[in-house]
Amino acid sequence: MTSPNTNAYRVLARKYRPDSFEQLIGQDALVRTLSNAITLGRLAHAFVLTGVRGIGKTSTARILARGLNCEGTDGSGGPTLSPCGACGPCDAIASGRHVDVLEMDAASNTGVDDVREIIDGSAYRPVSARFKIYIIDEVHMLSRNAFNALLKTLEEPPDAVKFIFATTEIRKVPVTILSRCQRFDLRRVPAEMLAEHLVFIAEAENITAERAALTQIARAAEGSVRDALSLLDQAAAQGADAISEKAVVDMLGQAGQEQIAALLSACLDGQIQAALSLYNVADTSGAEPETIIADMLDMIHLASLTAAGAPPADPPEAVKHALDNLAKTGIARLGRAWQVVLTGHSDVRAAPHPRAAAHMVLIKLAHIAPMPTPAEILRKLPHSQPQTLSPPAAPTHKAPAAQADTASADDSEPEPAATAAPPSHQSAEHMLPAYSSAVSPLPDSAMPSTIAGKTVPPTTIDIPLSVREIADRCETEGEHILAARTRKYLRPVRLRAGMLEAELVAGLPDDVQDSLLSTLARHLGLWTGQPWLVSRAYEGGGKTVQEEDDERRGAAFNDAGKIPLVNAVLSQFSGAKVTNIISTAIVSDSETGIMCEGAEE
Ligand SMILES: [Zn+2]
Repeated sequence: MTSPNTNAYRVLARKYRPDSFEQLIGQDALVRTLSNAITLGRLAHAFVLTGVRGIGKTSTARILARGLNCEGTDGSGGPTLSPCGACGPCDAIASGRHVDVLEMDAASNTGVDDVREIIDGSAYRPVSARFKIYIIDEVHMLSRNAFNALLKTLEEPPDAVKFIFATTEIRKVPVTILSRCQRFDLRRVPAEMLAEHLVFIAEAENITAERAALTQIARAAEGSVRDALSLLDQAAAQGADAISEKAVVDMLGQAGQEQIAALLSACLDGQIQAALSLYNVADTSGAEPETIIADMLDMIHLASLTAAGAPPADPPEAVKHALDNLAKTGIARLGRAWQVVLTGHSDVRAAPHPRAAAHMVLIKLAHIAPMPTPAEILRKLPHSQPQTLSPPAAPTHKAPAAQADTASADDSEPEPAATAAPPSHQSAEHMLPAYSSAVSPLPDSAMPSTIAGKTVPPTTIDIPLSVREIADRCETEGEHILAARTRKYLRPVRLRAGMLEAELVAGLPDDVQDSLLSTLARHLGLWTGQPWLVSRAYEGGGKTVQEEDDERRGAAFNDAGKIPLVNAVLSQFSGAKVTNIISTAIVSDSETGIMCEGAEE
């Protein structure tokens, strides 16, 4: 904190430290609850105040201590929300010399011995005040033993003793302690409110400041009144006559969260030039490349949480709106951005010219981000349509369709290398790990109705009309082994309601050979409510479900190489090849990822 040179000058944060609840801005909920407790005479023995750094926990603790011990100007007052500020206790507490109000910083007094003093002291009645009050700051820093020692006192607190704990990390305070405290969460002060507060103080201090400058300060303070006042102090010390917005931006010397959000947003929109110029603004104001990239990672994290429906509890006011917008990008794209920026972060740290490396990260991100996600591409491919019913898809017409669909998305891109690399070499040597499980399970509920809606008249809703449907039905009925065998071993010859004739795959184990068809007939009869004749044929069988799936997958690999995005990735990383295509749901909303394996030169 800079302290301007006048001798009598008190830094604003101290001068305007609130000494009554009325002056505590932005904490209405807390004040209301406390007010009720005091009016009803239901004051807890222990309070815990939690909130981010600089939010006013210690100030609140002192105001509370004064309120509890204030005697009023005539010496007859009781606990109050509005300590008079004039009586003996008020005065002594404000100047930190009241014998019955003791402050301890747990950060530097973590041990059981430190707590022991408090515990011993709490056995004695207050010397002069109504209550003996212990204010323990950063209480989460106490050792486990210290907490245990404290717990005994909290369980049976002497009447005239109150504890006020303050912490930035409430999760580190044992539940046994918390359960004996009345908890108050101090909220970040909304930027608007903080700006108003700054306007008021600037006027009171005869500081001339542009409103926009104060807004910048309020945003930078991220909800902390103390930080806001310190910044105002600094700005006032630097600007001789008036505080301008530009001076504040220069002074902050770092990319604000808002700036980072704008930068990220530009990248995700593929606006390389905008991204670079935003970066340069942050850069010239003194932000380190590594910090900017790290801040972008944080922003992606917050946006992803928001997109996932679990938004951060108390996001900085300045970026709330930006986060909502970024979240609309979708989890898949944010995830992709995370990968790029995370890798980029270590690049920046390792690079001889971090600034250049940061530029490259932004360019790469802006280049990749607007491309369709693999899921979006595969959703457009014919074989990602509901495939339970379709004949084995003809792979020949897929690639052009995919290219046509994605071409528009690439328009803004200078050259995504969509047509560069010949696709032939990728398909040769891929592995197919863990595929069976990815393809087989159809969502239980979705399956029958989809089928019904597409092809089967309502009256025969439950009759499976392909081996695949039979296998799926086995699956939904919980007959997983039967389902697997049906997929693997049955070559359908003829199939209609109540009748299946199938060839069995050669080399079947004996027990399977004997029982598969009869088991199937029995189950089908049970599930469809009509007798089934399932017989074995010795020729003329078609492909098994599994063979169909394998073929389709092979085609998918082939096609993957023709997809512009994949192509672009493959050409970007020399030696890369497609190793896996993951499809987690086939019937609808397929979320599909194509994995590439990179090989460094
Ligand atoms: Zn008083």
